[in-house]
Amino acid sequence: MIKALVVRKEGEAKPVAAVEEISLDQLPEAEVTVAVDYSTVNYKDGLCIGPGGGLVRNYPHIPGIDFAGTVESSADPRYKPGDKVVLTGWRVGEAHWGGYAQKARVRADWLVPLPEGLSTRQAMAVGTAGLTAMLAVMALEDHGLAPGHGPVLVTGAAGGVGSVATAILARLGHEVAAVTGRPDTAEYLTSLGATRIVAREELTEVTKRPLESETWAGCVDAVAGPMLGRVLKQMKYGTSVAAVGLAGGAAIDGALITPFILRGVNLLGIDSVLQPYANRLRAWERIAKDLPMDKLEAMVQPATLSDLPGLGRDILKGQVRGRVVVDVN
Ligand code: NDP
Repeated sequence: MIKALVVRKEGEAKPVAAVEEISLDQLPEAEVTVAVDYSTVNYKDGLCIGPGGGLVRNYPHIPGIDFAGTVESSADPRYKPGDKVVLTGWRVGEAHWGGYAQKARVRADWLVPLPEGLSTRQAMAVGTAGLTAMLAVMALEDHGLAPGHGPVLVTGAAGGVGSVATAILARLGHEVAAVTGRPDTAEYLTSLGATRIVAREELTEVTKRPLESETWAGCVDAVAGPMLGRVLKQMKYGTSVAAVGLAGGAAIDGALITPFILRGVNLLGIDSVLQPYANRLRAWERIAKDLPMDKLEAMVQPATLSDLPGLGRDILKGQVRGRVVVDVN
């Protein structure tokens, strides 16, 4: 028997999540069985633990979109018992049972070998949020961003994606301006390497102005909504915004075409879920190299399976700071 966070839903009632014991043969069929060490809590996990958000199709369900652990058995030649692996995305924890259990059974294609120098705990301190932050930074670099070009804006900075993006960009030598709606996180963000704190309210008013002063050399945006509409108008000529999330709304409120056609600004979409394997490997290797592990540790809030229902509610309200690491054992 193994421990797992199981979400059950009866008829029209709201889903209920609780720690239960399940037998191994209840796990889905797939090539690789992993003994999970750690999982984490992303925004999507909040949805899958709680309301479902259209992501979970079948109940009972085991959420957990990320996990890291050790291969226990594998019917695929790419993996053997004892290998350390990490999994993010591929709709694991949404359409497939995920990492909130002591064991997970998944397809070999979905796994990535843990990069040299990264522990399973550190991999989950990174998780989907951190991987996405790295993919965003890589996309900005691929479109010309380099240190010395000017301040790089990170929105939703005290959240998971934002915290990791702030630490990586600062480590790479960028000047980082962190947008937060929580003034009490200023010290935390400065400790991650932000040199400027921007109050959320400064960027949430929808304006009709076609352009504003050229301010930012790049942006990692986890928020969208009115903030992304404003930020686009403040980008320097020829720079890019990596659009990662929608914590502030699913539209780009007040956006005009002017930044694109008068300043050659790029809006780069970032998806971590179906990201091809080669780029995942590249991102995990860059994380092991370019994310300072002491800064990562400063983001970590430890948790256990029984903390997850509460943490799921908190992350949906934007109240989780940094990254949660869940010890599932
Ligand atoms: P978190 O909840 O940890 O962080 C989101 C942050 O956004 C909050 O901490 C808060 O930061 C800010 N925020 C919340 N609500 C608002 C609001 N109404 N207006 C402005 N800012 C707000 O989530 P994650 O960092 O894990 O994820 C961020 C977003 O990225 C989510 O939308 C998520 O779905 C998406 N995502 C997308 C991925 C992809 O593959 N594209 C992968 C991972 C996440 P502060 O308190 O500092 O203001």
